[in-house]
Amino acid sequence: MTFDLVIRGGTIVTASDVTKADLGIRDGRIAAIAEHIADGERVIDATGRLVLPGGIDAHCHLDQPQAPGLASKGAKMADGFRSGSISAAFGGTTTIVPFCVQHRGTSLTAAVDDYHRRAEGQSVTDYAFHLIVSDPTPAVLGQELPALIRRGHTSLKVYMTYDAMQLSDRQILDVFETAREEKAVMLIHAENHEMIGWLADRLEKQGRTKPVAHATSRPLAVEREATHRAVTLAEIAGVPLVIVHVSGGDPLEEIRRARARGHVVIAETCPQYLLLTEADLEMPDMLGAKAMCSPPPRDTAAQAALWQGIEDGTIDIFNSDHAPYCFDQDGKLKAGPAASFRAIANGIPGLETRLPILFSEGVVKGRIDLPRFVALTATNNAKLYGLHPQKGTIAVGADADLAIWDPEKRVTITNDILHHNVDYTPFEGLEIQGWPETMVSRGEVIVENRELKAAPGRGRFLTQKTSSAWKTREINAWI
Ligand SMILES: [Zn+2]
Repeated sequence: MTFDLVIRGGTIVTASDVTKADLGIRDGRIAAIAEHIADGERVIDATGRLVLPGGIDAHCHLDQPQAPGLASKGAKMADGFRSGSISAAFGGTTTIVPFCVQHRGTSLTAAVDDYHRRAEGQSVTDYAFHLIVSDPTPAVLGQELPALIRRGHTSLKVYMTYDAMQLSDRQILDVFETAREEKAVMLIHAENHEMIGWLADRLEKQGRTKPVAHATSRPLAVEREATHRAVTLAEIAGVPLVIVHVSGGDPLEEIRRARARGHVVIAETCPQYLLLTEADLEMPDMLGAKAMCSPPPRDTAAQAALWQGIEDGTIDIFNSDHAPYCFDQDGKLKAGPAASFRAIANGIPGLETRLPILFSEGVVKGRIDLPRFVALTATNNAKLYGLHPQKGTIAVGADADLAIWDPEKRVTITNDILHHNVDYTPFEGLEIQGWPETMVSRGEVIVENRELKAAPGRGRFLTQKTSSAWKTREINAWI
């Protein structure tokens, strides 16, 4: 009984344990975990290294079609499945879950077919799709969604803002109802559209159109109100709800309150809310556009509140919200070099820097331990989005998706070391300790010695099972 690959002498970390053991991999899956494993066809020496489950980035945007009225403001996404998944892999991630978007007046099923075509032959990592519902017609609610959920798309997202995406409270309840009947998990972008529009109109009238006005038009109260409304709608409909990209203490407080009432509400945050502030949008000329995302980065008090949420278990998932727009005329500057903040694409890149940032700022700085790091970046996403135990853990029978980390390696983040197609990183100059050096996906080494070893197209589409959030009504028992 021989193994295709043996990883020897490493420290294995899961969401619950840190142990020293060897791993034996056969046919793409973990076949043995033991004190010592005899030679396989190939042996990787992981002495002094951490062996972690490959990361899962369950919030990223890749190759979404261009259209006005969206977060993109008609700009072109710089990354598709090829460069996006390569960038993810170099940053320690082996599974990505981008969003398949329904545009109004079109069928959701057609959007899924189109997104499969966009992914075909491109990805180096495995992938699933969340579905964004922007037009919940009777046909979408009654036929398309139930069929798509049964085909393995068990996570759906709705927006409370953006002209072309926003749903009314009543429409959100309609989608939630279908989600309850079919046991899908709901994700929501929670910002109050009317308040943003009113504030943005006033700012423009006052001539305040620079990128920083983007933050002024979307204060934390806008997010707090929408978060409160979103969890209330979920309570009424009886569905588990994921609040994506929580940016500060006030919405987190609403989430804690909903949980205290007994509802399954899951909170996500992203690197930009821990590292950036509104001051990053105040850079001269249009440079502040490089830090424009929604919700916007806040202040140091918000950062502290988010770290508190990560430490006390209010925040359970950590994703990038990678939304790749270059700082050029196809991307951030599409509406011109002096455009109003309202015409600038919202979103920043982050697939490759997500894990190193949380490792360095969280684990190395002593804010979280290694199992919590794995839970936040892999295991909880796998459970929540119906990919566990195939993905997100190190266990016999699981896919051999692994990230072998050098916990001592020091790296200064600069855009030229990254593999995305975006021409900047908002984390330029950030000093990091700890970096994933060897990546394994289904037993195949895909990144080694800073080189890509995998062919685009090897990544497989994953059908999602029912979310763990549906398996219990107990608070936090889903993880
Ligand atoms: Zn997003």
